Amino acid sequence: MKRVLITGGAGFLGSHLCDRFIREGYHVIAMDNLITGDIRNIEHLSHLPNFEFHHHDVSQFIHVPGELDYILHFASPASPIDYLKIPIQTLKVGSLGIHNCLGLARAKGARVLIASTSEVYGDPTVHPQNEEYWGNVNPVGPRGVYDEAKRFQEAMTMAYHTYHGLETRIVRIFNTYGPRMRLNDGRVLPAFIGQALRGEDLTVFGDGSQTRSFCYVDDLVEGIYRLLLSDHAYPVNIGNPSEITIKEFGEEIIKLTGTSQKLVFKELPKDDPKQRQPDISKAKALLDWEPKVSRAEGLRITYEYFKSLPEEELYKAAY
Ligand code: NAD
Ligand code: UDP
Repeated sequence: MKRVLITGGAGFLGSHLCDRFIREGYHVIAMDNLITGDIRNIEHLSHLPNFEFHHHDVSQFIHVPGELDYILHFASPASPIDYLKIPIQTLKVGSLGIHNCLGLARAKGARVLIASTSEVYGDPTVHPQNEEYWGNVNPVGPRGVYDEAKRFQEAMTMAYHTYHGLETRIVRIFNTYGPRMRLNDGRVLPAFIGQALRGEDLTVFGDGSQTRSFCYVDDLVEGIYRLLLSDHAYPVNIGNPSEITIKEFGEEIIKLTGTSQKLVFKELPKDDPKQRQPDISKAKALLDWEPKVSRAEGLRITYEYFKSLPEEELYKAAY
């Protein structure tokens, strides 16, 4: 049985990856310090003999007994309100955390896949963004703590690949959504659905003309799984190219939820990227991958999930 370590395994994406690797017959070790994750995301796996949970901060030395075939480094705060509240931990997990993972991989002879992000492109001047674009990031702006940590993480991973010959993979993830996102994590989809469910107006930042391209979680997981098993060490974008303005997205959520509330406009956060759309030619060519779930279908599933949560979840503060 192959053994995989998933850091950030109790988070939104990490828990879906745990599910996938369990389904594929792996022994899965989820490691998480629960700073933004939730143990309930992996509770349904806890009884399985091929599943382990290790409560640990991966910015500290990582010890895992036994062999490892793969390490997926997904630990990191991921939503703007999270990394603005815990900027130092964000920088540490992207630097010390990846160093620990790469060191562990060398010791075990494991392959490492890291969760990078479309944020490495910053506020892009090239559209859509392909992997050859170097980005437009403000290192000392509020988002710099996340963007630069992820850029450092890519550089460190490449250095281990070229200098130590370690097998590495880099996925640049574009905005992904689905069940197990936190209703209060501040990202636009849970924010809008939470507001609709509480009977509040939906807060659009700026004039809502900025764009994003939303990928359903199952599509992302499929792309990551294929990339891990491929032989491609350079970064690959995984995301859904279907682009939409945030204003139109708000209107879609109003229609989906049937709320009688309206859009209200608030100040745009500093350095908020104006447009974002993945160029997925590389993923198509190398992995024979493209997204399958339409936004209408993905949003319907996600809305059902949020509706099924206990009512007190709706009123929980972010911290
Ligand atoms: P999430 O907050 O749900 O998951 C992150 C997990 O990492 C949490 O469970 C958290 O407790 C854990 N964690 C954070 N710091 C840790 C540390 N020092 N030690 C151990 N565990 C730690 O967020 P997510 O959306 O699931 O994001 C997962 C990864 O994917 C992140 O690396 C993020 O940067 C990346 N990513 C996500 C998206 C997206 O749209 N969801 C887009 C681009 C990149
Ligand atoms: N946004 C918004 N209202 C909210 C939360 C976010 O209009 O309540 C906007 C935000 O300014 C950004 C977009 O939605 O332009 C996506 O934000 P999110 O935090 O989900 O992701 P990111 O900016 O990291 O892509």
